[in-house]
Amino acid sequence: ESFDAMGLQENLLRGIYAYGFEKPSAIQQRGIVPFCKGLDVIQQAQSGTGKTATFCSGILQQLDYSLVECQALVLAPTRELAQQIEKVMRALGDYLGVKVHACVGGTSVREDQRILSSGVHVVVGTPGRVFDMLRRQSLRPDNIRIFVLDEADEMLSRGFKDQIYDIFQLLPAKIQVGVFSATMPPEALEITRKFMNKPVRILV
Ligand code: AMP
Repeated sequence: ESFDAMGLQENLLRGIYAYGFEKPSAIQQRGIVPFCKGLDVIQQAQSGTGKTATFCSGILQQLDYSLVECQALVLAPTRELAQQIEKVMRALGDYLGVKVHACVGGTSVREDQRILSSGVHVVVGTPGRVFDMLRRQSLRPDNIRIFVLDEADEMLSRGFKDQIYDIFQLLPAKIQVGVFSATMPPEALEITRKFMNKPVRILV
C-alpha cells in the first residue's frame, strides 16, 4: 500500500512526501481512508505508530480552504503535544495553505484572540484554553465539522473530562469525531458512546 492509492489531493501528497514519509504506517494504512470519508474513527494505538499523521491527513483532505474559519478542532493533553501536532499539521498542509493555531495554556490570551480573529482553518489545543476561547467567543464553533481527541486516556487521567464534555456541548450537532487512545478505560468508552456515531474501530 502507498499514500498514492488513498485518493488524497495532490497538494496533500506533496506535503506528506516533503515531510519525509515514503510509505504509510499500519495505522495510516487502515485509518486515513475511513477518516477522509468522514466516518467516526476510534484508533487504539500507542504513540509512535503514526497516529498524528493519520488524523492530520484526514483533516487536511477534508477542509474547505476557501473558507478561513475553524473547521476542525483537535484536543490534546499537554501543551507540548498540541504544539507538536500544530507543527505536523502545518508541515503536511504546507502546499494546501492551511492555517493552524495551537491554543494552549501558559501563552498570551490576547495573542490567541488576535490569531483566531485573523482566521484559521484548524485549532489544536489543550482543553482549558480551547474552552476559554469558545467561552469568550474568540473561537467560533459554527463551522467546526471535525473533532479529534488525541491521547484521550491521558486527557481523562489528567482530569479534563468535564472540559471535554463542555467543549463538545458547544460544537455543532453533526460532526465527525476521531478518538485516539492507547488504552480504553471506561471513561474513554463513555466518550465514544456519547460523542460518536457508528464508529469504525482500528486496533494496532
Ligand atoms: P506519532 O505516533 O504520530 O507520534 O508518530 C511517531 C513518529 O513516527 C514520528 O516521529 C513521525 O514523524 C513518524 N512517522 C509517522 N508516520 C510515518 C511514516 N509513514 N513514515 C515514516 N515515519 C513516520
